[in-house]
Amino acid sequence: MAITVRADLAGIPDYVPGRKIPGAVVLSSNEVATPPPDSVVAAITEAAGEVNRYPLWSSDDLLARLAGELAVDAGRIAIGAGSVSLTQQLIQALCMPGDEVVFPWRSFEAYPILTQIVGARDVRVPLTPDHVQDTGALLAAITEATRIVFVCNPNNPTGTVVHAAALERFLDAVPDHVLVVLDEAYREFVTDPEVPDGLRLVDERDNLALLRTFSKAYGLAGARVGYCVAPEHVAAGMRKVAIPFSVSRLAQAAALASLDVADELRARCAAVVAERRRVRDELLALGYEVPGSEGNFVWLPLGERTMAFNEHCADHKVLVRSFAGAGSRVTIGLREENDAFLAAARAFPRS
Ligand code: PMP
Repeated sequence: MAITVRADLAGIPDYVPGRKIPGAVVLSSNEVATPPPDSVVAAITEAAGEVNRYPLWSSDDLLARLAGELAVDAGRIAIGAGSVSLTQQLIQALCMPGDEVVFPWRSFEAYPILTQIVGARDVRVPLTPDHVQDTGALLAAITEATRIVFVCNPNNPTGTVVHAAALERFLDAVPDHVLVVLDEAYREFVTDPEVPDGLRLVDERDNLALLRTFSKAYGLAGARVGYCVAPEHVAAGMRKVAIPFSVSRLAQAAALASLDVADELRARCAAVVAERRRVRDELLALGYEVPGSEGNFVWLPLGERTMAFNEHCADHKVLVRSFAGAGSRVTIGLREENDAFLAAARAFPRS
């Protein structure tokens, strides 16, 4: 008999990483453009000298440090190989085949993939015409079978946000059997004062889990480390389904060293925010529709012209992330990288 893989995998989309072409400006993966500070590179190098040994099983040192800094009991924190890994752990820990996971759409493309991998059903709730997550519609999509609802704040790829009042109303109304997962991968780039701080909310709510990552503001996308603050039994379930030792020694050392220079790293975000404003203003002046973004990227809802725009930018040696028929997401890079993108955008026919 032939070896087969699960037949249903054929129906699950592949995760599409941002494109990389040598020599091109890479604005396709929402990374930060600046390499880590020397102290972080030194910590990774030192850890590299010990990679013959397994890492600490529960990332104990990082766990203790985060528990102290966040003022959260360590039992409520799960550390994982990036928040995408933690997303998978959450879904695996809560969902059985046939259960439902509700999320806004369009949003982070891993949500439907990770949902379908466990045999759960993905329920996609359209954004409003203004590209904002519709908490009323998310609520209306919840059924007896729903186990998780994702709120991505700011939303990838649109950059739009849910304000505190709407989120709190939503959290009050969600039935008891549903966990709300607040994905704050881009929280450090937020300047809108109406956007809630998930850390405060997660302290007050027992139906909420919070995802944070070192990949974005902390500039460690290549190291793979993030954390989740959740109700204690949820965090315990996440640890149970984790792949043993998946948070490497290098990742743990990098995260710890980054926390030592957190102020410096957060200051870099301010430069991204200033550039985000400049890029958006210029795009608006050029006649593009660009929703206000609180992430380290902007969204151009170009509809049917999306892939033409994508190829046009690639021809100009600028790589953006595009979703056919929907739009292009453009990461905010260094000033000269953004200028290269703006030059491409200027040269694209606008009708
Ligand atoms: N959540 C969102 C909204 C994201 O955009 C991403 C990365 N693109 C992630 C989670 C995962 O990030 P990481 O696994 O690198 O922490």
